[in-house]
Amino acid sequence: MPGRRSKRYRAIVLDRTKLREQDLILTTLSLGGEQIRAVAKGARKPGSRLAASTELFCDIDFLVSEGRGLPIVTEAQLITGHKHLSYDLDALSCASAICEVARMTCYEDVEDPFLHPLLARSLDACEQAQGRAHLDVVYAAYTFKVLSHCGWRPILNTCVSCGEQCGTRFCTLAGGVLCESCAKDVEGAMPVETWQVEWIRAIIGLTFDKLMAAEIDQATAGFLSSIAHEWAATHLDCRLRASEFFTGA
Ligand SMILES: [Zn+2]
Repeated sequence: MPGRRSKRYRAIVLDRTKLREQDLILTTLSLGGEQIRAVAKGARKPGSRLAASTELFCDIDFLVSEGRGLPIVTEAQLITGHKHLSYDLDALSCASAICEVARMTCYEDVEDPFLHPLLARSLDACEQAQGRAHLDVVYAAYTFKVLSHCGWRPILNTCVSCGEQCGTRFCTLAGGVLCESCAKDVEGAMPVETWQVEWIRAIIGLTFDKLMAAEIDQATAGFLSSIAHEWAATHLDCRLRASEFFTGA
């Protein structure tokens, strides 16, 4: 085609939007951390060669033809499919919530090599997680890690407002923990225990290997995923429907 050039990307499929009868618009996160949207023509046609490699969560190697309008996928090769996710509703819903946060924290034409490896590891962890509590940890860890990286790291060591060492309340809007006296003037500052703050610090700082090996009860894991959802929805300033579904918010 005149005026079009080819480009190859490796990327994870974050979202699929129906286009016309049989096509899809893919929203993906590239290895370099850019958000790349492209049209996969005929991807919804049964037996299409693009169908299997353009499923959600797929890590793919694809060739696009760029010109006016969105790039068009001309070839796609599957690297990792995360097939196991489709057998477990909780894991599937966790991976969907993670990809939704991923979509809101990457941008067209902005490279960030931190993003793709973190997402790939988180999706692997969704498959490895043994039970609901660990899925809650995976979602919370991904969400707090990516938001911290993007500039919304919660302040956990000292009161956000006065800098005092002891924080007994947590307020998402204020950006972290507050001491009892500062919390009096802040709406929505909820009481937190020291061990809960320790857990938030752990999911930001520890690797997925360490987190998956850690023992955690469901109440603590549920606390972490719901506070992660609130943190993301507040600071990204948007409604996160897949996260709402996963966390029951
Ligand atoms: Zn204070």
